[in-house]
Amino acid sequence: MNCDQCQMVSINGQACHETGCPNERKTWVEERQEWIRYVDCFTCGYPVEIGETCDCQLPIEEEDEEFLDLEELGRFIAEEGLA
Ligand SMILES: [Zn+2]
Ligand SMILES: [Zn+2]
Repeated sequence: MNCDQCQMVSINGQACHETGCPNERKTWVEERQEWIRYVDCFTCGYPVEIGETCDCQLPIEEEDEEFLDLEELGRFIAEEGLA
């Protein structure tokens, strides 16, 4: 972990930037060798890379199986007298 913007020191694995360093609020991502700024998702509070979409915002994929069950569901509703 090294900062290219300041003389950062690493204390117990925690990044300790110099005051005013642009990377100060970013997180070092080892596998990308990059400083990434994370923001908390407005909806679920999970930290998401800035500019990226949180998983909770992605549309849920419909499964074909559900459509096959519609006929059965219709029968169920008719039997229960919900329709
Ligand atoms: Zn720094
Ligand atoms: Zn989210």
